[in-house]
Amino acid sequence: MKLDILAIAVHPDDVELGCAGTLMVHARQGMKVGVVDLTRGELGTRGTPELREQEAQAAAKIMGLEVRENLGLADGFFRNDTMEQMAIITAIRKYRPDIVLANAMDDRHPDHGRAGKLIADSCFLAGLRKVETMADGQPQEAWRPKQVFHFLQDRYHEPDFVIDISAVMEQKLDAIKSFSSQFLAPKDHEPQTYISGTGFFDSVIYRAKMLGKMVGVEYAEGYTSAKMIGIRNFADMISETT
Ligand SMILES: [Zn+2]
Repeated sequence: MKLDILAIAVHPDDVELGCAGTLMVHARQGMKVGVVDLTRGELGTRGTPELREQEAQAAAKIMGLEVRENLGLADGFFRNDTMEQMAIITAIRKYRPDIVLANAMDDRHPDHGRAGKLIADSCFLAGLRKVETMADGQPQEAWRPKQVFHFLQDRYHEPDFVIDISAVMEQKLDAIKSFSSQFLAPKDHEPQTYISGTGFFDSVIYRAKMLGKMVGVEYAEGYTSAKMIGIRNFADMISETT
């Protein structure tokens, strides 16, 4: 199945925090969008990998994904090396996305920055014909996404562009709340974490509001791009009205 947009991120829930709104905006326009999670987030302080898988699938429904796949790489210990690159290259060639959305190149959690570079490198390598991969017993054709954009997640970076997600902000929050083991108040004896208090949830909303304010819309998600971004016309650009 060919996707228009594929979001690839290291932990299930990174996509919800960073680019769920963008995926939903485009899914509503009829584009095919999907997610590849690199790990099961098995080092997360709370919950279990099984629970996170259920949460990830619930969020996938809310986001309108065509597919959500988990590559089962090692949370915390994955490297930007051949085994990890080949797994991601195989996924890219399977879904042939035009645009890949990936973790930030630098973030509070060191996994995010490492994954950002790993995903960008894999997108490049996926386009080399002499890198050979197989799927379902068949050799895969080379495929390089046209663009790789890195979503802002925890740390603030000056974005190269932002996408208006005002129409889907509530659904983005619903998708995040699907990960109730991570983001809602602790149950039983589980500890409070960096992401489980209301302060963290508020910060997600403030970030979207701040990015939206920069371009005169209510909520937005921000991206950086290693390449210069070219546009074909001015028709879809947002202009501040006041
Ligand atoms: Zn993460």
